Amino acid sequence: MALTPPKTISILGSTGSVGSNTVDLILRQPENYNVIALTGNSNVALLAEQARKLNAKFACVANKERYNDLKEALSGTNIEVAAGPESLIEAASRNAEWVMASIVGSAGLAPTLAAIKRGATIGLANKESLVCAGELMMQAVSDYGATLLPVDSEHNAIFQVLDFDKPQNIEKIILTASGGPFREFSLQEMAHVTPEQAVAHPNWDMGAKISVDSASMMNKGLELIEAFHLFPVKEEQIDILVHPQSVIHSMVSYVDGSVLAQLGSPDMRTPIAYALAWPDRMESPSPKLDLAKISQLNFESPDENRFPALKIAREALKFSKSAPAVLNGANEVCVQAFLDKKISFLDIPAIVDEVITAFPHQSLSCVDDVIQIDVLTREKARLSIDKRI
Ligand code: NAD
Ligand code: MG
Repeated sequence: MALTPPKTISILGSTGSVGSNTVDLILRQPENYNVIALTGNSNVALLAEQARKLNAKFACVANKERYNDLKEALSGTNIEVAAGPESLIEAASRNAEWVMASIVGSAGLAPTLAAIKRGATIGLANKESLVCAGELMMQAVSDYGATLLPVDSEHNAIFQVLDFDKPQNIEKIILTASGGPFREFSLQEMAHVTPEQAVAHPNWDMGAKISVDSASMMNKGLELIEAFHLFPVKEEQIDILVHPQSVIHSMVSYVDGSVLAQLGSPDMRTPIAYALAWPDRMESPSPKLDLAKISQLNFESPDENRFPALKIAREALKFSKSAPAVLNGANEVCVQAFLDKKISFLDIPAIVDEVITAFPHQSLSCVDDVIQIDVLTREKARLSIDKRI
């Protein structure tokens, strides 16, 4: 039997939900991987445990104050340790062939770009980086010969069924959405929901930020922008369809009336395994799909009155090149304020909309422009939040 050498890999955001699922897959076939770098934000105990188990060469945390704790937690090993935002770029720059980009939020942009700029193959979960800097990122992917493999389940589904060679045959992309925990709530009911209710997603087990985004459906808005950058379609060719069971992860319809879909149980280890093994496939522990047991698949149109984030995101995409970065920065700040119980759930889309409207069009010629917009947007969103409390 021919032996292939282990794949060298790094995981940016290894301590999160997507990161931990990636670690889980690697630990099932450790002989196939050589782990170069792992990063976290401040969860030193988990990062150190992962680094030891995977025998990583480098581990770092974004939070500088946790340096000594990480050093101590990894004492007696040969694992190199660092801290601070620059250390994330260092982690991404080390020579892993395959990189999981699973940091949450725009904090993932600079490290993901560092991996792109050395032509790596990237499993992209960090949708916010594409929302903020889609055009610049896709240009860098092409300039530096990197490969972007979407890990977000919808985009992973589309990647699997889209005919990239004949984009003229694509009629549209249909992004499915579970509808989140408040799918059947009235606006009055949504006005009083708590962070605990918002993070309790009916189908998926995810980090807090994306769970709140799923509840407001801002997640689908971000995914619309993500799809626009990843696939050769126009904004008006991307539809959103609510499908509460999260079994069909998305679809592509073609000019002849054929609709191709990818199905699977709602377990991120399937799209992560796809990206990890691409262009091959690997075993994943995700539960096998039992359609007879599920028996019914339901669909409905999204309600933009109860979920205004969908409309706000689509308009941001049409409004200007900088508006999606404004949308993202404002949303990140609002989601955190909601989790901290400073604003109500319905304040999230209201403040995001307010910030986008107040923000002038900006040109985005380099990543520093995006970072500057992100900083200014966050300040504006914080001011709007302070006015409400
Ligand atoms: P999470 O909150 O569980 O994990 C986020 C990771 O990023 C952690 O490792 C955390 O330490 C790190 N991090 C947080 N803030 C940071 C900062 N300022 N600097 C550096 N590192 C930081 O999030 P998640 O649910 O794993 O999601 C990660 C990304 O994947 C998000 O962009 C999300 O939208 C996307 N995604 C997640 C899922 C899912 O099922 N969880 C599905 C699709 C897409
Ligand atoms: Mg998704």
